[in-house]
Amino acid sequence: MDGIGDRPDDRIEGKTVLQYATMKNLDGFAKKGMNGIMDPIAPGIVPGSDTAHLALLGYNPYEVYTGRGPFEAAGIGIKLKEGDVAFRCNFAAVDEKLVVKDRRAGRIKQGTNELAKAVDGMKIDDVEIIFKEAVEHRGVLVLRGKALSSNLSDVDPHSNNIRIHESKPLSVDAKRTADILNKFVKESYAILKNHPVNIKRNRNNLPPANIILPRGAGIFPRMRSMDEKYRLSSACIAGISLVKGVCRLAGMNIIDVKGATGGVDTNIDAKIKVAMSALNKYDFVVVNIKAPDLFGHDGDVSGKVKMAEKIDKALEPLKELDCLKIFTADHSTPVTVKNHSADPVPITITGKSVRVDDVKNFDEISCAKGALCRIQGMGLMNIARDLTNRSEKFGA
Ligand code: ZN
Ligand code: ZN
Repeated sequence: MDGIGDRPDDRIEGKTVLQYATMKNLDGFAKKGMNGIMDPIAPGIVPGSDTAHLALLGYNPYEVYTGRGPFEAAGIGIKLKEGDVAFRCNFAAVDEKLVVKDRRAGRIKQGTNELAKAVDGMKIDDVEIIFKEAVEHRGVLVLRGKALSSNLSDVDPHSNNIRIHESKPLSVDAKRTADILNKFVKESYAILKNHPVNIKRNRNNLPPANIILPRGAGIFPRMRSMDEKYRLSSACIAGISLVKGVCRLAGMNIIDVKGATGGVDTNIDAKIKVAMSALNKYDFVVVNIKAPDLFGHDGDVSGKVKMAEKIDKALEPLKELDCLKIFTADHSTPVTVKNHSADPVPITITGKSVRVDDVKNFDEISCAKGALCRIQGMGLMNIARDLTNRSEKFGA
């Protein structure tokens, strides 16, 4: 339940969203379960959804997360190889002096696949260029070759009416990669400025998408799959590409569910149903429901309360499901903060082997009194493996 953790809010009697919402099923799981609170990464560290999901899956985000690029790339289905350097990109409009006129190219909606094809597949100094469009003006660039580095500054100047930046190496070994990146950006302008898609946009008085501006460089590390790490076959059900990307890099199978949008209109019932049947095939299934986080970012307290209640109803079929179940969040997104915070999230684990405690409600304050106490996200998979008797002994 992405971002469902919260802080007290005067608009709802000084309670948190979970304390205020009426939740029959989650409270029921808390009563039957072992409860606690969890720091997704570590106390006081504000997680992103990507780094938090990495930690919950048992990866040290400080080791495997070098930037957002590789996770975006995996999210839109690019298969990365170790050593690939990936960037998030915007299609932007620049003038002939390379001054950015619109860094989202008018939020271009059509034709980006043709523009992407025009630059995809080229080679610069023996480095392979992979470029794929994402939603609207976004795209992903991957550099594939020997001895590349991600210690680079952004080309994207992050605001309009500024000339594009030259990417600068931030370490000595990054000079060649910076040169290649700068060549790519110039080349993208040369190819895209007269592309038929842009000639048409110019004719219709729309800002052209005549350059690609990379940012957020990250190198894809050696990452052991969930199967290698835990000998678990695993699957992921998520609406948003960032979470799908994390799970894909962890070698998990991505199951697409009709109506699972990652938005507030997402079909939670369908996700739960598909997750339940996926357990016939996989040992471990993770489901991400993004909507609570969106209400948190909007500061919409009544929307977040309603969403918590909607999720609670959708969890009803899980009462009949016999397996180890974990209910938690990747981080808190307090409606009063409108962003993520480091506040620990509630966690409930139910199953035959758990030590049932006295907690009766699924919320941040009640769960803190439970038998799990306060755990860290990176330990969660180990706890789950122990509770299902899959752990090996450390020592004699
Ligand atoms: Zn999140
Ligand atoms: Zn968020």
